[in-house]
Amino acid sequence: MNLKTILKNLNQGKLFFIFLIVTLIVVYPLFGYSQDNQQVTQFNFLEKTLISYGFTVKKEIPPYKNRYGIRPYGLLEGKTQTVWINPVVFDLGNAKATIIHEAVHAAQLCVGNKEEFKLLNLDIEPPKMTHPYFMRYHNYRKEIEAEAYTVQVQPNSLEIAKNFLDSYCSSNNNK
Ligand SMILES: [Zn+2]
Repeated sequence: MNLKTILKNLNQGKLFFIFLIVTLIVVYPLFGYSQDNQQVTQFNFLEKTLISYGFTVKKEIPPYKNRYGIRPYGLLEGKTQTVWINPVVFDLGNAKATIIHEAVHAAQLCVGNKEEFKLLNLDIEPPKMTHPYFMRYHNYRKEIEAEAYTVQVQPNSLEIAKNFLDSYCSSNNNK
C-alpha cells in the first residue's frame, strides 16, 4: 500500500484533522521560538546601548536583596554604574521588560549627572496596572519607580528607553 492509496482511504474530515495537528506541531514551537528570539535581540540591543554609555551590564544575581528579602530581577548601582540582570528573567520571559526598567533608571542617573536618580518628567501617565508595583515605595523613590514601570509596559518601550539614553547619557559619556 503506497501513500496515495492511504490518503484515498481517508475521508476529507480525517485529512483536515491530521493537517491541523501537523500544522500545530510545526508552527507552535516556531512561534514561541521567534518570540524568544525577538526578545533576546531587543535585550542585546539595549545592553549594547547601556555599555556604549559607560554602564557595566552583569547577567548575574544582584548582590543586594530588596526590602522583602528577595533578590530583584534587575538592579542599577549608581556609584559603580553597574546594571545587574538576574538570569532568572531569561527563563521567566521578562528579560526585555527588566532591562528596559533598568535602562530608564540609567537615564535617570544620567539626568542626575550619574550621582543621583532624577526624574525624566515623562509625559505618559502610569497605566493603572503598574500602580501596585510602585505604590509600595515612598516619596521621590515612588516617582522614580513609576517612570520605570510606565515605560516598561509601553508597546514601544524599547524605542522610548533608547531615546532617553541617547538624549540624557551621551554628553556624560564624552566628558
Ligand atoms: Zn526600579
